[in-house]
Amino acid sequence: MNVVNRIKEISLSESPTLDDILFLLSLHDQSSLEILRNAAFNLTTQMTGNQVWFRGIIELSNICRCDCNYCGIRKSNKAVPRYQLTKEEIVSAAMWAAQAGYGSCVLQSGERKDPWYTDFIEECLIAIKQQSTSTCMPHGLGITLSLGEQTPETYVRWHKAGAHRYLLRMETTHPPLFSSLHPAQQTFENRIESLHHLKKAGYLVGTGVMIGLPGQTPENLAHDILFFKNEDIDMIGMGPYLVAENTPMKKMGMMGKEELLELSLKMIAVTRLICKNINIASTTALQALEPTGREKGIRYGANILMPNLTPRKYRSYYQLYDHKPCIDEGREACRLCIRQRVTSTGRSIGTYDYGDARRPDHA
Ligand code: SAH
Repeated sequence: MNVVNRIKEISLSESPTLDDILFLLSLHDQSSLEILRNAAFNLTTQMTGNQVWFRGIIELSNICRCDCNYCGIRKSNKAVPRYQLTKEEIVSAAMWAAQAGYGSCVLQSGERKDPWYTDFIEECLIAIKQQSTSTCMPHGLGITLSLGEQTPETYVRWHKAGAHRYLLRMETTHPPLFSSLHPAQQTFENRIESLHHLKKAGYLVGTGVMIGLPGQTPENLAHDILFFKNEDIDMIGMGPYLVAENTPMKKMGMMGKEELLELSLKMIAVTRLICKNINIASTTALQALEPTGREKGIRYGANILMPNLTPRKYRSYYQLYDHKPCIDEGREACRLCIRQRVTSTGRSIGTYDYGDARRPDHA
């Protein structure tokens, strides 16, 4: 069977196999990659329309209780000055997004579990919802949280306060690899349980993995995609693993940039073909590999972008990995740059709406 027919057959299959996914991930020559890209782009149009949706990201604090071996803001990294945005700074960034027509914002931070923090996030959510409700957005700005593992009670409280999506990456769905990335107290089982708690609390649930981790195999990545499908995940945020200063994993190095970009784009395309009507982000980390990395993500089947809304003075303190792009650009510059990136792909920009691929009450 030729490549076109095999891709078509796999994308129509109700139960794609690990071998099917491995076949797609193994495509490498230019013409096969172009066929894969086209199939993913066209399926995206069919499933989620021609629009790309913006989630303005507010990196509200780099204070973290975790010590993930890959992460530039891990607790043990004493070289990074720690910061915490005030409620006013957070709400004002969110209001900027609402006025720019973004439709949604993401609140992301290091992981904190202290009661002060739980209350603080709840207050921010209530304030953002109240202030952003308008005739253009009758339900206010859509809010995604990306605040790490919390208790089931906290998930419920934050959902009631107005957040309707939660992003918690698995990082990898291969348990031994997961263990090699994290200290012993962070377990694979807890991570999966958290995803289930989030679904139960009523969120649209997002997850994702890092691509090109030291020791990661194509089989691991194929399993990751099957996991997204089997767990009925609503949104995916995934990107290349990039080394970060002052981390235990830095000495292990990383994949060559070209190969890593190709693999990351293939992961987006194959996830689209297998998971169909979900939202997939073209992450900033892609742009760290190549200046046009995020546009390429859209061309390979992503339909979400996350422009940075963090006040400029804090941006350099939120470097999860080295050479993070856009750390000295203001919000307006980011908006214009990203708008241009989207239109160059032939897509249009969705505004004043959540842009959920699936509704929170989907069966
Ligand atoms: N504390 C939150 C947010 C973490 S930062 C949480 O635990 O969910 C968001 C994501 O950045 C992480 O989930 C991880 O996948 C990614 N990340 C961290 N370090 C990275 C690195 N060195 N290279 C690529 N991605 C990285």
